[in-house]
Amino acid sequence: MKIDILTLFPEMMDAVLSTSIIGRAREKGILDIHLINIRDYSENKHKSVDDYPFGGGAGMVMQAQPVFSALRDIKAEGNRIIYLSPKGKVFDQEKAIELSAEGRLIFLCGHYEGIDQRIIDYWVTDEISIGDYVLTGGEIPAMVLIDAIGRMIPGVLSSEEAYREESLYSDLLEYPQYTRPREFEAMEVPEVLFSGNHGEIEKWKFMQSLYTTYEKRPDLFEKFIQNRHNLTKDKQKIIEVILKDLDNKR
Ligand code: SAM
Repeated sequence: MKIDILTLFPEMMDAVLSTSIIGRAREKGILDIHLINIRDYSENKHKSVDDYPFGGGAGMVMQAQPVFSALRDIKAEGNRIIYLSPKGKVFDQEKAIELSAEGRLIFLCGHYEGIDQRIIDYWVTDEISIGDYVLTGGEIPAMVLIDAIGRMIPGVLSSEEAYREESLYSDLLEYPQYTRPREFEAMEVPEVLFSGNHGEIEKWKFMQSLYTTYEKRPDLFEKFIQNRHNLTKDKQKIIEVILKDLDNKR
């Protein structure tokens, strides 16, 4: 996947996007990430990129010209152009999976009080927020999206299994994980994980996922339960047992 990031602070992003799994995906050529400094496109002799808002108000607004020129230069037309914005739709795993199927993505990071509305009206295909709070710039949100989208692309993680069982991939939160040692400060790992019985271990993981989701995200649990007819008969039976158990505990 080709990714272009338009930002006023490329140096802030380079280290993060060159490290660990995303860094390796770049080395392997699975992710082809380009950082574009919007300031390089300013036609102003002082290379300024922002100005006071018309009609008054606090702060500065990023001007249309440098962003238009940068997007034209990279031939952005016809691609998904994502503006990171607290006004956008809140990002989730479903969106990460959807965007991971694209061949090219362009991210536009705002700063200061935001960007001239004409940039959004003319270019932006998706306005995306990472949550209901306001940050100083779109750089951290862009990195959040690239990390979540990138790891959904085949070949980025070592095995597809690694995300199929993860929290939120199937509307359930992940079961608890343990590693060596088997006993640590008198706390033990559940016995079933050493049973060697694959069926029992899978059943335990599924049940733990259900209980964890019920406790921590009742909204997701409800959604999962509503759609349970799509699951195997075995899983539906386990759900019935758990629903009874939860009923008894109420
Ligand atoms: N004045 C804007 C408003 O009230 O909607 C907020 C501007 S914010 C200080 C500066 C930039 O940070 C935005 O242009 C956007 O790119 C980014 N940003 C801030 N919060 C964000 C969030 N929750 N999700 C995504 N991007 C965000």
